[in-house]
Amino acid sequence: MTRAFITGITGQDGTYLAERLLADGVDVHGLVFTADATSPQVPDAAVLHEGDLTDVGATAALVRRVAPDLVFNLAALSSVARSWEDPDAASRINSTAALGLLEAVAALPGDVRFVQASSAEIFGEPASSPQDEATPIAPVNPYGIAKAEVHAAVGVRRAAGLHATSLILYNHESPRRPTRFVTRKITSTVAAIARGDADELVLGNLDARRDWGWAPDYVDAMVRAASADVADDYVVATGESHSVLDFVAAAFARAGITDWEGLVRSDPSFLRPADATELVGDASRARARLGWAPTVAFVEIVGRMVDADLA
Ligand code: GDP
Repeated sequence: MTRAFITGITGQDGTYLAERLLADGVDVHGLVFTADATSPQVPDAAVLHEGDLTDVGATAALVRRVAPDLVFNLAALSSVARSWEDPDAASRINSTAALGLLEAVAALPGDVRFVQASSAEIFGEPASSPQDEATPIAPVNPYGIAKAEVHAAVGVRRAAGLHATSLILYNHESPRRPTRFVTRKITSTVAAIARGDADELVLGNLDARRDWGWAPDYVDAMVRAASADVADDYVVATGESHSVLDFVAAAFARAGITDWEGLVRSDPSFLRPADATELVGDASRARARLGWAPTVAFVEIVGRMVDADLA
């Protein structure tokens, strides 16, 4: 039986990945941060191990004990906004801990496969769109800097023979997205406005354009990458970008609120020191070599999130 080890199993992607692998008959193990409450969405059938990923020695010992065939590194300080508040934590969790895990996996015997959740943030403020695997890596925030370091290390380990893949994931959303991300902040606030529990939606940069996909599709890319004959780097993206304001408009439309312009304002306190104007990815390589394709369109993603928040 194949055994998987997932860091970040309590997060949006971790819960979807655990469900998917269990359905595929995989024995699923996950690392849960000792101080964290377990997410109710983590399936009961997953075996959870308490620990702190930043304790590199303890994590390496755990990996040796679990002896997985597949390792998915999804644990991260996952938001760019939080990485500005605590750059040191972004570096320790997203970089140092990930590098330690990568080395621990490389030291395991047998054909062990490593999948790293990298990010479009490694491209910083790219000069052109869409980006692909050849786009220059030039991060502009602490989150992107840490992800870029691990992306490079995965490439080095792959060249040395490890089946290690770095997935350059663009923003991917679902009703499980925490409200610190703009999409869920919008859908939860629009639902609150629809219920009469809130009277305005206060955001930062309304013009930023992002490539928003459906999180379970991105988990499907992780599974495909792990089972591919050859490891590589892959952009995982829909290829379509929309502005934050487009997302707002689609959310109000789904909630049936037509006169919404006066309910939305931009507050400078939510602006970031640096923020890419547009991030949009070209996933041609993943489509061709992994047979991957996104299955849920933008308006439907917004709709599903609004419906979940209204319910
Ligand atoms: P990120 O791509 O991981 O940083 O995901 P976010 O959902 O946090 O941010 C996506 C984009 O939305 C960025 O360009 C933000 O600057 C922009 N944005 C605009 N208003 C807000 C807000 O109120 N909260 C957050 N989190 N992002 C906002």
